[in-house]
Amino acid sequence: MDKYAQIRQLSYEANMQLPKLGLVIFTFGNVSVADRDQGIFAIKPSGVPYESMSPESIVIVDFKGRVIDGKLRPSSDTLTHAVLYSQWKSIGAIVHTHSTYATAWAQALRDVPIYGTTHADHLTRDIPCAPPLEDNMIEGNYEYETGVHMVNFMKWKEFSPEEVEMILVGSHGPFAWAKTAEKAVYNSAVLEELSKMAFLTESLQPNASRLKESLIKKHYERKHGPGSYYGQK
Ligand SMILES: [Zn+2]
Repeated sequence: MDKYAQIRQLSYEANMQLPKLGLVIFTFGNVSVADRDQGIFAIKPSGVPYESMSPESIVIVDFKGRVIDGKLRPSSDTLTHAVLYSQWKSIGAIVHTHSTYATAWAQALRDVPIYGTTHADHLTRDIPCAPPLEDNMIEGNYEYETGVHMVNFMKWKEFSPEEVEMILVGSHGPFAWAKTAEKAVYNSAVLEELSKMAFLTESLQPNASRLKESLIKKHYERKHGPGSYYGQK
């Protein structure tokens, strides 16, 4: 019995959600899912189209980015994932896409402003956009440096990866994560939807104002925190 069968299956299913949700085309994007007990994560193989992917094609890698098991090469973004897992011990899955609207905000080097309650249900602040990587980071170990850059950016902003589960990397695109694969994919889809809504809001009203504090607080607390009452208990 392959001791990685379960994590491979989880990673495969999460990866297959991306084209289904319209977040990727061709071979764009990647999901990884970690197994902290085994000290590994399971990531999409490099350059394989979603329709020809199988659970067996998922590559098992350790938190230093070294291949542990698998026939194919792992995603070229593997080192970015490895850095995030080794620095953020609480996360269990990472999703990276080039989904259209989120990537457009990343290319505009702009945070996605919190304009409405849909946004506030998920995050009480603008979705942050990290600056593009410096030249020396780009010329060095680029994918590794992308992870380091994200970790440093979150530290600098004083955001914890439990509080902020989605960011943009300037000139590049969106990254989302969570404790579980399901939630990380959900966050990635939410990030795209919020980016789209914010874009449309500014198209209709270039001077749109950010959501007022009372609504931000109300909507976030409805879903999170001790007094939450949204959904079924
Ligand atoms: Zn990318």
